[in-house]
Amino acid sequence: MLTNDQLSQWDRENFFHPSTHLAQHARGETATRVITGGKGCHIEDRDGNKMLDAFAGLYCVNVGYGRPEIAEAIAEQAKELAYYHAYVGHGTEASITLSKMILDRAPDNMSKVYFGMSGSDANETNIKLVWYYNNIRGLPKKKKIISRWRGYHGSGLMTGSLTGLELFHKKFDLPLSQVIHTEAPYYYRREDTAMSEADFVAHCASELEALIAREGADTIAAFIGEPVLGTGGIVPPPAGYWEAIQAVLAKHDILLIADEVVTGFGRLGTMFGSDHYGLKPDLITIAKGLTSAYAPLSGSIVGEKMWKVLEQGTDENGPIGHGWTYSAHPIGAAAGVANLNLIDKLGLVENAGKTGAYLNKVMKEAVGDHAHVGEVRGEGMLCAVEFVEDRESRTFFDPAKKVGAQLSAALASKGLIARAMPQGDILGFAPPLCLTEAEADEIATKTGDVVREVLG
Ligand code: PMP
Repeated sequence: MLTNDQLSQWDRENFFHPSTHLAQHARGETATRVITGGKGCHIEDRDGNKMLDAFAGLYCVNVGYGRPEIAEAIAEQAKELAYYHAYVGHGTEASITLSKMILDRAPDNMSKVYFGMSGSDANETNIKLVWYYNNIRGLPKKKKIISRWRGYHGSGLMTGSLTGLELFHKKFDLPLSQVIHTEAPYYYRREDTAMSEADFVAHCASELEALIAREGADTIAAFIGEPVLGTGGIVPPPAGYWEAIQAVLAKHDILLIADEVVTGFGRLGTMFGSDHYGLKPDLITIAKGLTSAYAPLSGSIVGEKMWKVLEQGTDENGPIGHGWTYSAHPIGAAAGVANLNLIDKLGLVENAGKTGAYLNKVMKEAVGDHAHVGEVRGEGMLCAVEFVEDRESRTFFDPAKKVGAQLSAALASKGLIARAMPQGDILGFAPPLCLTEAEADEIATKTGDVVREVLG
């Protein structure tokens, strides 16, 4: 067996890690951490450290680690047929079954599933389908996509542009010109503190109206949003937000893409976030919880309205020129079928609602009154704590202090993984949906202890 030192050296010499400070890692300032196993909500590293993973990997291991049902389904599929493509009517029992299982669970008026490998490529597919749709309708100018500041939709050229976080644009020449951003429904960070939630919702809708008026509705194809902002800080929208936004979109013939990469398959206590907030999307992006990350698989769920036009387009233009080698990969599909069956069998959607509410409650009790906690917020099995220098004025800490990163490092040393979100001093929690109340108590207690140790 390789020694840890050997692995660490090879890692620094050869491995280009995503979302990592490259120079610091090369200098050895960030550790090489080799994860070797996991069970339920816990993972284990090579040194034998056991950690409660309160972020479920990257909010994706929804059924928890070490589920033999999914591992066995993957092994069976790999032995029987590891790969065949899905072009021109080809499929496997797993991929065909999974498409039906997804549509059985999806909101009304959804028609078909296109499979990909990641949330990013599923959103790339969505934008291409939107453009194709408007070209077939004879609206070639109607192409711009509206996204929100603080939204996260991936790291590709188009999807990195849709993502509304500076880090993902800086030095990459993004966003592309077809993407425009509007205000995030981030009530805590509203400029005018006198605004009620209802006023703030009206303000977000009128900002959107103004943007559409400036650009011209005939140039705007779609609006993309996560039901709850995720990577941008875990921010549930204020009541009435989605109703107000959907009314504006409907008025201007603008499609709605619900990016449910995080919220799909139970995280909010409903099968989809669209069910929770009454969204009527034209396209839904799914990934992460579709397989609980046991294998890479994503999908674009296409609504009836778009599907009819896409079909018509192929009669006029031939087969749709959009395909991935690994679309509907049999191993991913087998993992997806086993995963969705397990979610049903264990009642995880219900548990996400119930234990998620408990986690939010105990987190508020543990840190809600602390002088440097601006807000504790969440929905379902999502929770965030936002830290501020001063509670009254909501002023940020000096970014050089790296308060969020310090807190998450201190939590890690106590065996708890929480994520320092990329913009602002925000700790994010998104545990597996099988979390127990005892584990929720542990998360809240350790967070309370660390906040007092680090911030006084
Ligand atoms: N959309 C959302 C809402 C996400 O949270 C993510 C990933 N965190 C993506 C898209 C991109 O998914 P991937 O990293 O699998 O490309």
